[in-house]
Amino acid sequence: MNSDLIVVGAGIVGLAHALEGVRRGLKVTVIERDHRCVGASIRNFGFITVTGQPAGDTWRRARVSRDVWVEVATQANIPIEHRGLWMIAHRPLAADVLQAFMRTSMANGNRLLEAEAAAREAPELQLDGAQAVMHSPHEVRVESRQAIPRLAAWLAERHGVQFLFGEAVLEVDAPRVRTSQRTLHAERIVICPGTELNGVGSESLASFGLKLTRLQMLRVKPQSGFRLSAAVMSDLSLVRYGGYAALAEAAALKTQLVEEEGPSLEAGIHLIVVQSADGSLVIGDSHHTFDTPDPFAFDDVDELIMAHAYKALKLTQSRIIERWTGVYPTGGPGDCLIRAPDPRTRVVVVTSGTGASTGFGIAREVFDAW
Ligand SMILES: Cc1cc2nc3c(=O)[nH]c(=O)nc-3n(C[C@H](O)[C@H](O)[C@H](O)COP(=O)(O)OP(=O)(O)OC[C@H]3O[C@@H](n4cnc5c(N)ncnc54)[C@H](O)[C@@H]3O)c2cc1C
Repeated sequence: MNSDLIVVGAGIVGLAHALEGVRRGLKVTVIERDHRCVGASIRNFGFITVTGQPAGDTWRRARVSRDVWVEVATQANIPIEHRGLWMIAHRPLAADVLQAFMRTSMANGNRLLEAEAAAREAPELQLDGAQAVMHSPHEVRVESRQAIPRLAAWLAERHGVQFLFGEAVLEVDAPRVRTSQRTLHAERIVICPGTELNGVGSESLASFGLKLTRLQMLRVKPQSGFRLSAAVMSDLSLVRYGGYAALAEAAALKTQLVEEEGPSLEAGIHLIVVQSADGSLVIGDSHHTFDTPDPFAFDDVDELIMAHAYKALKLTQSRIIERWTGVYPTGGPGDCLIRAPDPRTRVVVVTSGTGASTGFGIAREVFDAW
């Protein structure tokens, strides 16, 4: 069985390369060791974030990816659950960061509002004492656990991509790919292994000393009728997301947060809230980094996450209906590693929590440079 392109891994990064391959006229096979994707790509918020991404590669790739998501969503029957972002500054120093961000070119199209004006537009936000609120129109939100299988199905049905699920790739020696079941050949091979840092492609990654970061996530049922008009983030995100954290004004905010939010910072917590079609909220997250992730999740971490949610939202009821953890690789320079162990092979690993937001943009650049 021969293809022009074999993609290893059916997470968003692998699927993005499969799409880019078919758009360039290639016959594509995707090989995934699990019977369906259960990795980071279905465990995330489905929050395609532009505003707040670090300037440069990540921000550029995020804008491309957002446009591809919007285009593909219609064709692949993937609903856009909501658009945009409310970034709430509760502290005066957080408002300083937002004001500084608004002076950058990355804020084009964004608006900085006083709390009263934001409350009129978004009555679901808890803005008592808030100093400012930034609205970004650039984000979209998809339900990842639905979007990833639909994207794969659309690639198969509409574009003839062949998927081999439940088949692990054991060896890549281009043009030969040996799996647990057969040997295949392709002119080009892209390895998108996600958290599998010791398998195929690992020689290309070894020198970066990558680690694995584990996140805790919650799905919460709010009071009936509660609707978010956009995704929500708050002060802690301003020292975590590179687009804000790199601003000089973020240093003073960080100092204040270290004093006031020590346990949250220690657990790598910042707030993201998005909403699903059934009204439930996906709320997170925390960040703990390991060589091999500890399997245990902590209730006190979930409580801290929920405390931040209560500070940002007018929640009168909240029942946690799901808890899960997700893992992504971290370390290395930048947010993504693109390696070329030989002329026919590429290894692509997103080393940050940005792959849903940047995968399509990364794939386009990989092929442009190949
Ligand atoms: C909890 C959480 C929240 C996040 N929130 C966001 C967010 O809001 N926005 C955002 O942009 N990003 C977010 N991220 C990050 C984003 O989800 C990841 O960057 C992205 O999903 C990585 O995609 P991937 O395809 O590289 O990895 P994965 O989705 O992990 O897929 C890799 C696939 O490769 C397969 N594989 C590995 N080795 C082999 C082999 N030898 N043979 C066959 N198959 C193999 C695995 O089985 C797996 O299915 C979040 C991540 C987590 C965990």
